[in-house]
Formats: sequence, C-alpha cells, structure tokens
Amino acid sequence: MEKKQVPVQKNQTITLDFEDITHEGNGVGKLDGYPLFVPYALPGEKGKVKVIKVKKNFAIGKLLDIEETSNERVEPPCNVYYQCGGCQLQHMSYSMQSEMKRNQVINTLKKIGHIEDVTVHPTIGMDDPWRYRNKVQIPVAERNGKLITGFYRKKSHEIIDDMDRCIITSEVNDRMVEAVRSIADRLGIPAYDEKSHRGILRHIMVRTGEATNETMIVIVTRTAELPYKKELIKALHETYPHVKSIVQNINKERTNVILGKETKVLWGEKYIYDKIGDIKFAISGKSFYQVNPTQTKKLYDTALEYANLTGGETVIDAYCGIGTISLFLAQKAKKVYGVEIVPEAISDAKENAKLNNIDNAEFFVGQAEKIMPWWTSQGLKPDVIVVDPPRKGCDQALLEAMIAMEPKRIVYVSCNPSTLARDLHILENGGYETKQVQPVDMFPQTSHVECVSQLVYTGK
Ligand code: SAH
Repeated sequence: MEKKQVPVQKNQTITLDFEDITHEGNGVGKLDGYPLFVPYALPGEKGKVKVIKVKKNFAIGKLLDIEETSNERVEPPCNVYYQCGGCQLQHMSYSMQSEMKRNQVINTLKKIGHIEDVTVHPTIGMDDPWRYRNKVQIPVAERNGKLITGFYRKKSHEIIDDMDRCIITSEVNDRMVEAVRSIADRLGIPAYDEKSHRGILRHIMVRTGEATNETMIVIVTRTAELPYKKELIKALHETYPHVKSIVQNINKERTNVILGKETKVLWGEKYIYDKIGDIKFAISGKSFYQVNPTQTKKLYDTALEYANLTGGETVIDAYCGIGTISLFLAQKAKKVYGVEIVPEAISDAKENAKLNNIDNAEFFVGQAEKIMPWWTSQGLKPDVIVVDPPRKGCDQALLEAMIAMEPKRIVYVSCNPSTLARDLHILENGGYETKQVQPVDMFPQTSHVECVSQLVYTGK
C-alpha cells in the first residue's frame, strides 16, 4: 500500500494557526488535518514553528515566534518556567486554565466513557493560585564544590541553575529547603551523585501543615550513616522552632523513586499535624497527604455533599490513605469502613480516628479489590461507596465488587480523567448513572485536574 505522505519535514519552519490545546497544555495547529503539537502555544494564536519531530499521525514543533497573541497569554512569573518540567500552564491566564480543565473532563468522558448526558460543573479554582503546595521534594547535587538544590531541567536529570524558589510551593517550605541546603553545605555533607552512585544527600523533602504551621523535614540519604547528624539537627530545630520532626529516609537503590524503605526519626515527633475543616490529621513522612490544603477542603466537601448522608448510612471508603475522606464522612454517617494497601497509612488512619474521638470508623489493610468481595461475603451492605484510586484508576475486580454491593450512591474521586471515564463506563453498564462531575483545581499552573463524580443506582 502506498504510504501516506505527512505534510511536514523535520527542521522545516512553518506558520501555524493554533485552534486547540491538549490536556498536557500544548497548543494544537493542523496542516490538512495533520496535527502539530507545540508547547507554549495557545488557541487563537498564530506563530512560527520549527518542526522537531515527525511521526505518522502527528508532529511536535517548537514555537519560534508569536505573530498573533492570545488575550489569555500572560507573562509567567517564575524565572525558570521554560526550563523546569514542573508547571505547564504558567503562560496561560488562570481563567483559561480552569476552562481548559473542564473541557478536558467533558471531552474525555465523551471519548473514552461514551458519557455525554452529564453535568460537568465549572472548575472550582483558587482565589490565589500560587504558593499552594504544602510539600516539596527537591534533589541535591554538587556544583563547583557547593551543594545546590533545584528541580531538574525538563526531560533531564540536571538541576536548573539559579533556582532559589518554587512559587507554587509554600514560602516556609522554600525557606526550609534553603536552610537544610546551606547548613549541610557548611558542615560539608556530600551530595549524592547519580552517575557514580556515591555520596550521601539525595533529596530534601519538607512538609508543613498549613493550619498548624508544623514542619517535618525528611533527609533522604543513600547511606544509613549521615555525617554531622547531630550538628545538622541542632542547627535546624534551634533556629526554626516550627520544625517539629526531623526524619532520615534511607534509599540505597539506583532509582528515580525518591523515598526508600527505611525511615528513622532523628529528632522530635514521628508525625506532624494538620487540620482540614474540623478534623485534625497526624501525618508521617511516607503517607500520602493531599498537597493543596485549600483545595482539599473543597474536594472533600464536594465528596461529602455527593455522598448525601443523613446519619444512618453505612459507607465504604476504598483507597482511604490516612483516613482523610473516611473521617470527613464519619461525621455524617452511621459507620465508615476504610481500606488501604499501605500499612503505615492505616496505622495513621487509626491514630487519626482516635485523635478526633471518632469511633464509628474502622480501617483495614489490604487490596481494596480483595477486601471488598470479602466484606460482601460477610454480609456488609453499604449505602454509599467512595473511591479515590491512584492515577491508574480502579481495578476491574473492585468495580465488579462495587456493582455487586449495589450501593445507592457511588462517589468517585479521581486525579486522572482518562481512567475515570473508563471506570464510569463500566459502572454505568452495571446499573449506575453518572449524575454530576465537579472538577477541582488541586494543581494550578500544571495540567493536572482532579474530579469528584456522583453516581446513583438506577438498576436499569
Ligand atoms: N483518599 C486518600 C488517599 C488517596 S490516594 C486521600 O484523599 O488522602 C490513593 C491511595 O490508594 C494511596 O494511599 C494508595 O496507597 C492507595 N492504594 C493504591 N492501590 C490500592 C489498592 N489496590 N487497594 C487499596 N488501596 C490502594
């Protein structure tokens, strides 16, 4: 068969009209129906593009010059935005970011889930979409005999020069990264070197409870030994009284995964505390905890509203982490059962229930897809099931278990619209109807979008 010609060649320079945007935030322009994806171009713009990669069905271009500029284009406030891979949307107005995220949800539900007849509400955004992250994990390296910290340059493992802050991270965390770096530098603690797999200091992780201003510092090292440990700890907690916990995490592997298996408390508490709404949480170093506290409150409030509890219900919270959503639900339900695969998270969840004097929530360690069928065999009949799975979505066995349990309502919290759409389609085939979907902007300036969906049993 004759090979279809693509209309561009590598290294060619062309002028393109941009009409759309991908869910990664890349501009889309077409030549005879053949799409070119161009980072940093916005819909409504016209620009000069150098073709840098050509594939059968699409090409990637580099924006050289903008000839017609969109009103939605803004100057990115971060001075390393175009080098860093962390944010993708700083060149776009916040209102366009919110609209784009909502459209992405609508289109993905339609394309992957075949769901059209559903209300997708306008994205719940932030009044001030900066400095929102309560956690930062930053790599450490050595340059010209000095310790440096900073994110990696896009698609590389080379730390960006002159990166002294990250403006989506809270100021206190930025300052603490700088404090650990400069103290460690003064003491002469060597940085880890990826290539030779030698040296010690790999990452600095800082988490601060927004409501409590308590900080945990996690020092990730290649070796169990941490030289000048005492001096480092002393300098940190004496200078910064909000530091409540200093933890060492040991990661001996040659890996991109940041945290290793072993954690030791070097000084202070095992936990820091934070509060969302009326509930207090103890958070340990390795537990999952939402990174945007302002938006987390809105996310959980929406989940609670969609669960529509009156006080008499039995609820299951699958993928419950440290019990955050479970404890929110427990305030309005008769009984909540939480299930989660990470044992440390479940011990945090139990601790959190005690901390808040909540005695109608029970937590179990295990794979949700295995525990739920077992609960069914034990006669447990939930009125509402809440799921909040990782990016890969729900396991097929779990979807089947949910359908078999026939709850009146399902609340699906998702950080990935594609797997959400796939799973909603399966639940719809199992007798549920998706009533409404609420996108919540948990990660402003990035292309990620979180959603809460409400499904009701129709038995069709
Ligand atoms: N609802 C929580 C956590 C959501 S993150 C919150 O809002 O804070 C998703 C969680 O699912 C993680 O804690 C992860 O450890 C857990 N998880 C992943 N696979 C799982 C499985 N098969 N069964 C149960 N939990 C799982």
